[in-house]
Amino acid sequence: MSSVLSYVQPTANSPWGTYLSQVDRVIPYLGDLARWAETLKRPKRALIVDVPIEMDDGSIAHFEGYRVQHNLSRGPGKGGVRFHPDVTLEEVMALSAWMTVKTAAVNLPYGGAKGGIRVDPKKLSLKELEKVTRRYTSEIGIIIGPHSDIPAPDVNTNAQIMAWMMDTYSMNVGGTATGVVTGKPLHLGGSLGRVKATGRGVFVTGREAARRLGLDLRGARVAVQGFGNVGSVAAELFAEAGAKIVAVQDHTGTIVNENGLDLAGLVPASRTDGGAVSFKGGDVIDNEAFWEVACDILIPAALEGQITAERAQKTKARLVLEGANGPTVPTADDILAERGVLVVPDVICNAGGVTVSYFEWVQDFSSFFWDEDEINVRLDRIMMNALNNIWDTADKHKITLRTATYAVACERILMARQERGLYP
Ligand code: NAD
Repeated sequence: MSSVLSYVQPTANSPWGTYLSQVDRVIPYLGDLARWAETLKRPKRALIVDVPIEMDDGSIAHFEGYRVQHNLSRGPGKGGVRFHPDVTLEEVMALSAWMTVKTAAVNLPYGGAKGGIRVDPKKLSLKELEKVTRRYTSEIGIIIGPHSDIPAPDVNTNAQIMAWMMDTYSMNVGGTATGVVTGKPLHLGGSLGRVKATGRGVFVTGREAARRLGLDLRGARVAVQGFGNVGSVAAELFAEAGAKIVAVQDHTGTIVNENGLDLAGLVPASRTDGGAVSFKGGDVIDNEAFWEVACDILIPAALEGQITAERAQKTKARLVLEGANGPTVPTADDILAERGVLVVPDVICNAGGVTVSYFEWVQDFSSFFWDEDEINVRLDRIMMNALNNIWDTADKHKITLRTATYAVACERILMARQERGLYP
C-alpha cells in the first residue's frame, strides 16, 4: 500500500520526508513485523484548529494550531508544543513521529504526539500569549488528557505556558488535572530536574559516546547551535566536565572563542533581547562559518534540517550530538557516516526530557514527589541502558546508531500493534 498522504507533500529533506526515509532504512531489520510498517508512515490523528484572540489594540488575530497523535500503540500520546512562525502541519507530523520512536527507544509507556501554533510569540504581549495558549488548549482539549495525550514544552514554550495549559484544561473538565501536561512549575506538580533533563540527557549520551571513541572530554572543543533550554544546559554540563565551548550560535548570530566561552557571562547575555552575540567575551563570526569551526563535538540544538550535505562535508567534529529534533537531513547523514563522524541521533540523544516528563506524570498520579538526586540517577540509568542496547544492535547489524535506534524502537511499536490487533 502506498504511504502517499493527500494532505502533505514532503520533499527529500523536509521534516516528514526525512522521517519517511529514516523509516525506509529500518524496514529490512524488522523481520515479519515489516508487514505493519505502513502504520509508521501515517499519523493516527491530526487536528488543525483556528486560534482567534483579541489583541491588546482591540483587533482580532487568528493563528493556526495543530495537535498530531502519530501513534498510540504503546500508550497515551506524549510530545511538546512549539510556538514558532514557521510551524506547519508537516513539521508537527514529523515531530510527533519522532516522539513515537523516542518513547519506544527509551521504553517509556507512551506513544508519540506533538503540537504547535504558527505564531511568533516574541511579537505578543504576555496577556496575548496567555490568550493564545488558553484558546489553543481549549481547541485541542477534545483529544488531550492525562490518559490520552500529554503535551510538554518545546521551542518557545516553557513552564508558565504549561501552567496556563493545565489550568485551562482543568477549568474545562471541572477539576485540577495536573497530569495533563508536563514541564509545569514545581509547585503545580512539576518535577525537579525537568528543566535541565534534555540537556542532561544530551550530556549523558555524549559522555558515553566520547568514551567509546576514546575522546577525552577534558579539553574537548564543543560547538553548540541553539542556546535555549537544551543547548545551554548541555554546554554547561560539558564545561563542568572540562570541555571548552568554542562556538555558540543562536537566532541572533554566532560567537566564538577558541580558548572557551565563559558560560557564566554568556548564558545571562543570551537571555536578553541582544542574544548570544551581545556577550563581549568572544568574536562574532558569519553564521555559515559556524559549521567549519575547529571542534571535536558538534551539538545542533535549535531546529530541523540544519546539517545539510554541504555542512556535513565541512564539519571538523568527530561526534555529533543531536539535541534538536531532526537536525540532520538524510543525505548529510550518509556523508557523516562515510567521513567516520559518529552521530548520536535525536531519538535517543534528546530523550532525557521526555524521560523526566514521564517521572513528572508518575509523580502527579501518586502525589508523591522525588528528590533531584533520585531523578538524575534514574534518568542516567534509563538513558545508559537504552544507549547500550542500541549500540549492541548497531554492532550486530553493522548499521548506524540512528538505524539501530529505529530498529529497537520500531520493533517495540509494531510488536505492540500486532499484539493489540486491529480494531474492530
Ligand atoms: P528554546 O526555545 O529554549 O531554544 C531554541 C534556541 O534555538 C534558542 O537559543 C534560539 O535562539 C535558537 N535558534 C532559533 N532559531 C535559530 C536559527 N535559525 N539558527 C540558530 N539558532 C536558532 O528551545 P529548546 O527547548 O532548547 O529546543 C531546541 C531543540 O531541542 C528543538 O529542536 C526541540 O524540538 C528539541 N527538544 C527540546 C526538548 C525540551 O525538553 N525542551 C526536548 C527534546 C528535544
